[in-house]
Amino acid sequence: MKPGAGLALATLFLLGLCVCAGAAAEEKAVLQWLGVAGWEIRLGRTTILIDPFLTRRSPARDREWQTDEAAVLEVIKGADYIFAGHSHADHIADVPFIAKRFGSKVVGSRTTVNLVSTAGVEPSRLTTIQGGEKLDFGDFSVEVVESRHGIPQGQFEVSETKEILAPPARLLGRHFVEGGSFLYLFTFGRRRVLHQSTANFLAARLPGLNPDVALLAEPGRGYNLKDALQALKPKTIIVQHFDEWRAPFSQALPQPHRRRAERFQRDILSVDGGINVILPEFLKTYALEEILAR
Ligand SMILES: [Zn+2]
Repeated sequence: MKPGAGLALATLFLLGLCVCAGAAAEEKAVLQWLGVAGWEIRLGRTTILIDPFLTRRSPARDREWQTDEAAVLEVIKGADYIFAGHSHADHIADVPFIAKRFGSKVVGSRTTVNLVSTAGVEPSRLTTIQGGEKLDFGDFSVEVVESRHGIPQGQFEVSETKEILAPPARLLGRHFVEGGSFLYLFTFGRRRVLHQSTANFLAARLPGLNPDVALLAEPGRGYNLKDALQALKPKTIIVQHFDEWRAPFSQALPQPHRRRAERFQRDILSVDGGINVILPEFLKTYALEEILAR
């Protein structure tokens, strides 16, 4: 090695560290699909969860809910923030356990906040949303957008939103009511990521959101796909919630579910062939800037 080369290498190494530490938020954002509408977004040292559900079984209506703690802890190693799109079991049933375990801050509907309170999470960590909020967390921000629940097959009208108005003494299966549905528009530096927990939109709320990446739920679509895509104009769509949520990952993608996701992918491309549509794999990580570079 030439004289001075060691110093040059050390300088380069330090520069590399500085560049990394000072990287813009969008360059640090890495998304991981947790199945259903669940995502972990890592932003440097900050861990954000959206609708994390890893127990992957249906609650019994009148029985006390039990999270599969081992299944959760195998995947979730920490959570600074948890965002809940709506309060059905496949979106929030593991949130009370995760929030209590990791001291997470939880953002969700009145129903979500009440159910999480039952687990003993301090009120100072809970933020109740109604839609329209703009929340600033320092290294990222979130806009809460009022939405609607997807419409189950064969049903044509959305039933009235059910809510839990006070923390129940014990968390039973029947407490996981919808509680209102919300979109979250995350801003990471110059990038925006939209999360849709259930397959519906309020059309009037979409113009101006302009996400770079939209995480869209399938199936049971309650909206006009063409109108929604023309309003949102996302560069990339990652399809989610097409897996069988009551089965472990190894059995959660039977053929009909795969086909449903592929059909949704084709439908999106038939509206706008320029959109990059990703059908994600369980627990795989997707660096935000990498998926947008494709
Ligand atoms: Zn739901």
